[in-house]
Amino acid sequence: MPKLWQPLLDRALNLFLKPNCPMCDRTAQAVFCKYCHRQIQDCQLLQPDRYWQGDLPLFAWGKYEGPIKQSIGKLKYDGDRSIGYLYGEWLADSWQKHTPAGLPAKLIVVPIPLHGDKLASRGFNQAELIARGFCEVTGAKLDLSLQRTRSTIAQFGLSKSDRQENVAGAFTLVNSRLKPGNTVLLIDDIYTTGATVRSAAAVIRSIGVNVCGVAVIATGRNN
Ligand SMILES: [Zn+2]
Repeated sequence: MPKLWQPLLDRALNLFLKPNCPMCDRTAQAVFCKYCHRQIQDCQLLQPDRYWQGDLPLFAWGKYEGPIKQSIGKLKYDGDRSIGYLYGEWLADSWQKHTPAGLPAKLIVVPIPLHGDKLASRGFNQAELIARGFCEVTGAKLDLSLQRTRSTIAQFGLSKSDRQENVAGAFTLVNSRLKPGNTVLLIDDIYTTGATVRSAAAVIRSIGVNVCGVAVIATGRNN
């Protein structure tokens, strides 16, 4: 079975099994328990479009703090895929309520890829799960042609210029159906300095495709 069906299957099973909350082990409702659900919802930005400006506008569902940080960790390192899909739905919901002006009706969604090594060890790309949940709700088209050409070291702890150097040339398009004039929205889990998404956007823009911005679950930006 394709790995990406797993969240749907997990969900279907969850209807019967009533699993526990991945955050606290209490009985879960959908993915989280009522308590953690509320804690995470409290991190939601009232204006998710507040950073939608500049060369690569940013749309962020919430703030990268406490409960969100913990739940993204559960998604990435404990492999709780249902969190990714749920976050995609929440991001879509927020996007539909605060859709930035001036975008074409037909958007193509491109998740930021993981390098093959990381993908192999993790078994899934969390940004792709979020993008799938997002596309399911909004009807946007998913495109997986952006790929990592090489592994990059973790960005944490690097200076701004080192971060840019670390990701420069890290992406390529493989068998892409993207065409000049298309408009792409990038999707990732977290936005920190933006070096990674800027590098991805440059590759897509180099073939004449418009990259309108990036949508993420959480950002550490606070200005
Ligand atoms: Zn909980």
